[in-house]
Amino acid sequence: MSQRVVYMDNNATSQVAPEIVAAMLPFFGDKYGNPSSMHTFGGAVARPIEEARGKMAALLGAAPGELIFTSCGTESDNTAINAALMSHPEKKHVITTRVEHPAVLNYCQDLVRRGYEVTFLPVDRQGLLDLDRVENAIREDTAIVSIMWANNETGVIFPVEEIARMAKAKGAVFHTDAVQAVGKVPINLKDTAIDMLSLSGHKLHAPKGVGVLYVRKGTRFVPYIKGGHQEHGRRAGTENVPYIVGIGKAAELAGANMKEENTRVRALRDKLENGLLEVEATMVNGDREQRLPNTCSVSFEYVEGESILLGLSDLGICASSGSACTSGSLEPSHVLRAMGVPFTAAHGSIRFSLSIYNSEDEVDYVLQHMPPIIERLRAISPFWAKAKKDGLLGAACNTPGYVEP
Ligand code: PLP
Repeated sequence: MSQRVVYMDNNATSQVAPEIVAAMLPFFGDKYGNPSSMHTFGGAVARPIEEARGKMAALLGAAPGELIFTSCGTESDNTAINAALMSHPEKKHVITTRVEHPAVLNYCQDLVRRGYEVTFLPVDRQGLLDLDRVENAIREDTAIVSIMWANNETGVIFPVEEIARMAKAKGAVFHTDAVQAVGKVPINLKDTAIDMLSLSGHKLHAPKGVGVLYVRKGTRFVPYIKGGHQEHGRRAGTENVPYIVGIGKAAELAGANMKEENTRVRALRDKLENGLLEVEATMVNGDREQRLPNTCSVSFEYVEGESILLGLSDLGICASSGSACTSGSLEPSHVLRAMGVPFTAAHGSIRFSLSIYNSEDEVDYVLQHMPPIIERLRAISPFWAKAKKDGLLGAACNTPGYVEP
């Protein structure tokens, strides 16, 4: 009998919806034309692209002409920042946060090496931004403020609509990486001051390898990938027709499923989280209110996240840890470090990210198996025994806010 799989790692990638596979299949079959061709056979695939654009525009409250199809969220993020810098060459300052996805963070770190000045805004112990600090950081020479809508590790939501207004008032372009937010929070771009927004198909039950960049009409834009005239000259390269059709279908489904994400999925996440918090010396990372409905980042003090993941994986449970193996040592993630989560807790952090495909039975399965895993690992941990003896358990939960180095 094949092993049961309980997939709770949807912020990493999500199951491709069967409806999306079905919508894509004809474009791997007899509808293989090039949408730029002059003949009717090629032209027949141009229309489905525009239909997909229309569906995504409806989900975002945007005009179809404001959307550019890209290869992924990373490409959208890189393109947005590059476009703002190239179209405002006199401005050499960029603002972002310390908790962005590497798609923005590493790009910005590279900008520093190229001579730009980048302000990496800190967050507090709950993973939240100080809005006065954001506003004060925006200067006359700030080309772009790029702040994520929702954090991929903690699910913490930033008030990007408010920050976009601040940026606009001071003449800076505002971009948001909404890769984790789309489909989970209502978005109506026409009512906001957001200039650019990135999203990715594979977090939305479409396949990996397709994304979207929204560019508000009137925003100055310079393409990142240059070549043919596709996407009205804003993103060259023959269109990935099946995947574009797939992300269009994903937008349609995401709109229809948004309510379920915010009711049934949220209730499942809360049940899971409350159950996990019953385990001794356990805490939630990130603000529990301003948060995505599907994400739960929990730290188990004095245990290695990687060991927990292996224990879970043996039972077919898929989640992720808040540490990354860098040069042979386990480093807590940059997000948890920026939040000032103590090492003893950051090392034992696990992220569960649910989707509409999860059931209550699966939550019960995780809750049944997690406590013995933690107990087993703590039983062999000398740190756990010492911390318990010294009365240090739970200390991580009470540490003060982030102190800037
Ligand atoms: N931004 C965020 C917040 C993400 O979570 C991810 C992927 O995990 C990305 C960007 C990158 O998206 P992609 O994998 O499509 O390049």
